[in-house]
Amino acid sequence: MINPTELERKLNRILPTVQKPGRYTGGEFNQILKDWDSTPLHTALAFPDIYDLGMSNLGITVLMDILNQQPDMLAERVFSPWSDMEAAMRENGIPLYALESKRPVADFDLIGISLPYETIFTNTLNLLDLAGIPLRSEDRTDADPVVIAGGHATFNPEPMAPFIDAFVIGEGEEAILDVARAVLAWKGSGKPRAALMRSLAAINGIYIPSLYAVDYNPDGTIAGVEPIVPEAPARILKRIVGVLPPPPDKLLVPFIDVTHNRVPIEIMRGCTRGCRFCHAGMINRPVRERPVEEILNSIELLLDSTGYEEVGLLSLSSSDYSQILKLVKGVNQRFAGRHLNISLPSLRIESFSVELMDLLLENSNRGGFTLAPEAATERMRGIINKPVSTQQLLETAADIFSRGWHTIKLYFMIGHPDETLEDVQAIADLCKLVRDEGRKHIGKRAQVNAGVSTFIPKPHTPFQWVPADTTEMIKAKQDLLRRELRGPGLKLNWTAPEETMLEALLSRGDRRLSEVILHAWQHGAKFDAWREHFDIEHWLLACTMSGVDPDFYTHRERGEDEILPWDHIDAGVKKSFLLEDYRMSKSGEIRPDCRSHCYACGILPKFSQLRRENPGPAWACPEIPEKRGHGAG
Ligand code: SF4
Repeated sequence: MINPTELERKLNRILPTVQKPGRYTGGEFNQILKDWDSTPLHTALAFPDIYDLGMSNLGITVLMDILNQQPDMLAERVFSPWSDMEAAMRENGIPLYALESKRPVADFDLIGISLPYETIFTNTLNLLDLAGIPLRSEDRTDADPVVIAGGHATFNPEPMAPFIDAFVIGEGEEAILDVARAVLAWKGSGKPRAALMRSLAAINGIYIPSLYAVDYNPDGTIAGVEPIVPEAPARILKRIVGVLPPPPDKLLVPFIDVTHNRVPIEIMRGCTRGCRFCHAGMINRPVRERPVEEILNSIELLLDSTGYEEVGLLSLSSSDYSQILKLVKGVNQRFAGRHLNISLPSLRIESFSVELMDLLLENSNRGGFTLAPEAATERMRGIINKPVSTQQLLETAADIFSRGWHTIKLYFMIGHPDETLEDVQAIADLCKLVRDEGRKHIGKRAQVNAGVSTFIPKPHTPFQWVPADTTEMIKAKQDLLRRELRGPGLKLNWTAPEETMLEALLSRGDRRLSEVILHAWQHGAKFDAWREHFDIEHWLLACTMSGVDPDFYTHRERGEDEILPWDHIDAGVKKSFLLEDYRMSKSGEIRPDCRSHCYACGILPKFSQLRRENPGPAWACPEIPEKRGHGAG
């Protein structure tokens, strides 16, 4: 195996020949490089896309910090090289390496791969291949690293099951240490790898796919998923933390421009709104908020240690953070005179107040506001459970334009269940109404940028049973929007129907999809999330070679009694709750925000002990009284 000195020597030769060499050097300000020989456990955290994106991933930053705080563990970073760098690495015999020590990834004990979305799956195989690690779990020996994966896409882990040794389901902050401790205990113990897998299976929230057998019915649906060893639970309940752990007190400062050059602070996790299409909203329950003072202190530390001039107050719905006014006032006061820019990337129209806008006026670059009505007719809003009225949207738009902002981005989705062309036409009409509202205040400078994505029925949501729109239906709806949304002050962005189909296939797939992913990668699929790289032909060919009918996964309505490929993964929300919500959607019945009324979605009974241990308003779910005979006395 190549050593770091030799690897660096080779790197120095090729780096001047590739785009953005700063992606591949490491050594950034605030980098932590621990001593390899005196640290017993070596972990590498990988984001299977380029550095520019991966460096803005808060999850990797947080996990790196947690692991590096352990005296007996070190964590280093790994990203996918862009095509030019990959070609140069392969040509020069340079394996995938970690940025900090320049050690080959195959030298590490544990590789943690982040899988936030499905179009990153082929990059994951490419990453393992570049590292020289066998792609299939069953082919790895005791000398190979243990490959784990976590992230939103792992709530349906099945399509990647043969390639990953262990999935971390849910929040990784505590689970990662449990896994790392188990790997450390196994390392050098002389026990076979299979013994480690069984001990990992016994950790809460850890799914070892090789310890489960899947049976199929003659019609191709799933007959059952059963554990084959006693340590493996029948259902894997996601792991959550009771309190959001403190943010890291230092951040790496890249040499090159990355997607977000800012201090990111997660202010709240989870969302109680219950939009029926929203995967993140369902799998991240319950809502937990971070205290204002902790956020302010953290911003101060991170601004001082990085020199950034922007802070992102992050959550699924930042204006729903119950202390948002107090927080933004606090930022304005504490950092007055520092020319700080505050970004609130996701705002709810219902909770975005005039007062908040006025506060943001002091600290915003006025680049534009993003609002997500998602649908434009009352009927569709009832179906998707996002009851924002046109009047409310227009009033918010008027407030924004009248304060000097001149661009509003509006996010919509087409392809919702039971959607008609009239519902799509209403999207175009609404965009024009918002632009016209802007013109009343700032004339022709008013700009509306409509981002129209296509709905994918995601696992663990009330819509998990419905079929996705066909490519023809999507094209007809997009044609309508292209015709209607043109002219001054209007701009339209959309997702290619083929990209949507791939995401639907991968997110709704079962274990048999793994062959499709493998064939697609072998035939050149890579960087599928990048339009310039994506080619549906790789995938169609891969489906044919694997004998898989993609429509079975994308366009088939699933039976209410059907065992779904992800049913053994427990996101905390009951299937019966999702089904009830799905039925409510058919009659357009709204289920208001559960902060004001708990609908017993299933979260509280599953995490009752954690809720008891964390009383008070930080959780949006109702408190649970102490059990009788428990506690004092
Ligand atoms: S338990 Fe109740 S309050 Fe908590 S997320 Fe579920 S429905 Fe909402």
